[in-house]
Amino acid sequence: MPCPYQESDDGPLEGPVDLSRLTARERQVLLLLGGGPSNGELSRRLRISERTVKAHISRILIKTGQSTRLQAAMVSALHHDQLCPSPDCRWSLAAGSPPHDPGAGEVSAA
Ligand SMILES: [Zn+2]
Repeated sequence: MPCPYQESDDGPLEGPVDLSRLTARERQVLLLLGGGPSNGELSRRLRISERTVKAHISRILIKTGQSTRLQAAMVSALHHDQLCPSPDCRWSLAAGSPPHDPGAGEVSAA
C-alpha cells in the first residue's frame, strides 16, 4: 500500500523546522504542547494567563513555520531532544530507543 501522502505535496510535517529563534519560555511552552494540553492547562502549569499562553503559541507557530498547534505538538514530540534542557530526559527519543537486548527485536517484528 503506497504512502497516502505520495500523490500530494503535503506531508505530515513541514520541514525543516528552525527551533533556534525560540526563546527559553517558548521552548518550554512548545515542550508542554507535545502532551496535548488545553490553553487552560498550560496557563495553570506555567502560572501565566491564557492570553499569554495564546501569545506564546502564536509566536511559536510563526517562528517554527507551523500552521496549527497540532503541528506544533508534533514538532515538540519529534524534536524533544533539541528542546529539552535535561540531557538524560526520559522522553528523549535517543534515550528512549530500546536497548540492544537479544530477543527484543523479535517482539517489535511480531
Ligand atoms: Zn525532556
